[in-house]
Amino acid sequence: MIVVKFGGTSVGDAAAISRAAAITRGRLPRQPLVVVSALSRATNELLAIADQAAQGQLILALRGVEGLRDRHLAECQTLLGDGSDADDVRAELSAMCDELAGLSEALSVLGHLTPRSLDAIAAYGELLSSTLVHAAFCRYGLPMELVDGRDVVVTDELYTRALPDLEAITERARSVLLPIIRRGRVPLVGGFIGRSHAGVTTTIGRGGSDFSAALFGAALGAEAIEIWTDVDGMLTADPRSVPRARLIEEIRFDEASELATFGAKVLHPSTIAPAVQRGIPVLIFNSRRPEGHGTRITPDAPRRAVTAIAGKGNVTVIRVTSSRMLLVPGFLRTLFEVFERHRTSVDVVATSEISVSVTVDDPSRLETLMVDLRALGDVAIERNRAVVAVVGAGLGGDSATMARALGALHGMRVHMISLSATEINLTIIIDGDRLVDAMRALHSEFFDVSPTGPPTPTPTPTRPPRPEAA
Ligand code: ASP
Ligand code: MG
Repeated sequence: MIVVKFGGTSVGDAAAISRAAAITRGRLPRQPLVVVSALSRATNELLAIADQAAQGQLILALRGVEGLRDRHLAECQTLLGDGSDADDVRAELSAMCDELAGLSEALSVLGHLTPRSLDAIAAYGELLSSTLVHAAFCRYGLPMELVDGRDVVVTDELYTRALPDLEAITERARSVLLPIIRRGRVPLVGGFIGRSHAGVTTTIGRGGSDFSAALFGAALGAEAIEIWTDVDGMLTADPRSVPRARLIEEIRFDEASELATFGAKVLHPSTIAPAVQRGIPVLIFNSRRPEGHGTRITPDAPRRAVTAIAGKGNVTVIRVTSSRMLLVPGFLRTLFEVFERHRTSVDVVATSEISVSVTVDDPSRLETLMVDLRALGDVAIERNRAVVAVVGAGLGGDSATMARALGALHGMRVHMISLSATEINLTIIIDGDRLVDAMRALHSEFFDVSPTGPPTPTPTPTRPPRPEAA
């Protein structure tokens, strides 16, 4: 069996839902389980509703609820038309929106929002979408069975990012989902939502539908997990900086993780950890171009020297120099405790005998942090730096590739270099205003020409989006 997950934009309106139905139909021979997100933007709107209600802006909150009602009913009308079964679905969607309105009123009376009530509200995105998508898929003749995600995903009580209990989920998946699949039918489940052991609704973190898909896949020993989204897959660089960036057809899990820390928005690899632990490949596809190749994330893809180039700007470098550091055990601990105290997370680190350089992404607590750091030594701050990273599982120990990387940055000022502990990420700190130049130079060094043989494959042709993608 396989897990097929559709993200918010892949079920965002009637046209998207009908594309998702066609994709699911093509997967029927592989015994799919379908997971859906809330309709695009719905979760953000729900969180805003909760916030407004708790701040006493009930009218605004109720207007938000009506917006969601209208949208779901309108898509339902397009998909199902009239008729008594359509009426039933509309009544169900509407009843959920009534509950939402009731919750909003309660929150506005309380004037206070807890993570628990936030989850109670956020869960409606997937409750509504799964009801709508289920009805539509059935109308298209697919043998669907709607399952409430909360009946399977057992979590702790850390509301808004509850931790799933994989053992309990495996048990539920086997008793609730497997019999449906064995009967030749297709379970359809809303992602993101769960229930605590005590039975209270929880959510498992933003973007959590990928996590749900990975949990179901791991619990049922799926052959693959397909994540259908609105991009072609992971690319060799951010196409906004590097227009020649092209699709990565296969990437290792650890490489994908490195890219995620640079804001590759496709999916956060920690969310697919349950799949990775079981060696289940995760595939990313574009639901607007289902014929595309997609990206396959596996634990054991071939180790290429360079798989992708990543970069980010607005990085601050902090250098602490102290002769006290020399041969004194525990200095680094003292130093990093300062960062911990000021809740500033450190990204790249490089050390010499008497100095430590670190980068931070979030300089908001810099002023107070500096006061404590100055107690340890001389402190210098360099703002407006950028990080570029060459990511590849075959990079470790490959000095020729590293030399090429530095060679490509010829003429640029290099402020720091670090080869990550896993040796799959060569990180270079440069001037902030050279970020795009550096990314393009590195990308063309590694992806445009090959020094030893025929040119590497040409970029995948980018077809213009289809009309419905507009
Ligand atoms: N609907 C949830 C969110 O927007 C979960 C998801 O889309 O994966 O965060
Ligand atoms: Mg999503």
